[in-house]
Amino acid sequence: MRYFPIFMDLTGRHALVLGDGEASDRKALALEAAGAIVIRTTTFQPAQLDECAVAIAAEAAESEIEALVEAANRRGIPFNVVDRPALCSFITPAIVDRSPLMVAISSGGAAPVLARLIRARIESLVPPAFGRLAAIADEFKAELRRRFPNTSLRRRILERALGGRVADLVVAGQENAAREEMTRQMAEGADSTGIVYLVGAGPGSADLLTLRAHRLLGEADVIVHDRLIGTEVLDMARRDAERIYVGKARANHCLPQEGINDLLIRLGREGRKVVRLKGGDPFVFGRGGEEAEALEAAGIAFEVVPGVTAALACAAQAGIPLTHRDATRSVTFVTGHTKDGRLDLDFVQLARGGTIAVYMGIVTLPLLRDGLFAAGLAADTPAALIERGGTSAQRVLTGTLDSLAAEAPGWSQGGPTLVLIGDVVGRRVGLRA
Ligand code: SAH
Repeated sequence: MRYFPIFMDLTGRHALVLGDGEASDRKALALEAAGAIVIRTTTFQPAQLDECAVAIAAEAAESEIEALVEAANRRGIPFNVVDRPALCSFITPAIVDRSPLMVAISSGGAAPVLARLIRARIESLVPPAFGRLAAIADEFKAELRRRFPNTSLRRRILERALGGRVADLVVAGQENAAREEMTRQMAEGADSTGIVYLVGAGPGSADLLTLRAHRLLGEADVIVHDRLIGTEVLDMARRDAERIYVGKARANHCLPQEGINDLLIRLGREGRKVVRLKGGDPFVFGRGGEEAEALEAAGIAFEVVPGVTAALACAAQAGIPLTHRDATRSVTFVTGHTKDGRLDLDFVQLARGGTIAVYMGIVTLPLLRDGLFAAGLAADTPAALIERGGTSAQRVLTGTLDSLAAEAPGWSQGGPTLVLIGDVVGRRVGLRA
């Protein structure tokens, strides 16, 4: 973060605007709108800064600007020279004004055009009436605090109101009806049992999250996640959401599965809105089934949100179709996880053709090769290793099961890796890495 964002209270404070022209007029108007007493000048005198909380210059003589920058700097008064970030102690963002709701966007000077594009999008996303909605929420704030001292409960009541009927009524211009609805919802309270969403986070890129996952991340009180979830995805979560890491690496379990189940149940009982975030899809080798069973048995409401599973993300980005009309009519997802040192797979069935996507298979690759070859899989069947598939760090190694088993230990960088086996690997398209 290059600049620290703040909103400044200028009510009744003096603000100096140096310069004469369109930009300085605009700044003066904005300062006045924020309640400042604006002093305008084209010739700078240090004494003009005496009472000032802030100074802005635009369209002024260079010598005057220099004098202002020097004096403001010495006195520690925040100053801005429009469109010249090198001469500023603060910069001003592009804003969407729905007072009291205010959205400020900045690219830190790197790409003002991008900031303006984003502003245009937010303008269309936040109806003008949201200013009124924020004001109405403010009217109810004290009473809500008094009646619902529990922060998370209070938040849920507000989320329901501001994201639902109350907001609809305000947007429709029916503010009194909105107040009545707010009063009614407050009397109803929020039902105090929580809900757990088992959410698939996809392979790690934020833009491969589903819209539903994205929305829930923005709403959750608490996020329970494991090792496969990267910062890019976690950054989509509400800033003040609690995050609980329950990590899981091969043979390095942070919290055993029963512990995770118990944690989800406890959070649900506390009335929280929980997102249990899982890499890929929760129901594909994600133990989502066990978590869902435990929640059901405990009577906690839950929902499953699918995600892009590793096989789909890896295949797409590596340019390997999982099925092909001419050759391959099935795809099987299997685990390379061993039970008592053995791969418990139906090798005969797998060797019959069709694509095989092996999760957690890189370490046990020699066992898989032996099993498949013994069951009759052709030794020249193409195969691929795909590490960190579906992310910008994806790596692909192609060959045969024999060559991959030999090369894998030297090639792997330790990231999650999928093994794809089948004729489709030979039909790889595109030039992607
Ligand atoms: N629920 C997850 C799978 C969890 S099992 C999903 O649907 O994708 C963990 C295994 O998934 C890893 O050992 C690896 O084989 C595979 N995997 C997960 N993310 C991956 C990725 N980005 N690239 C390649 N393989 C991945």
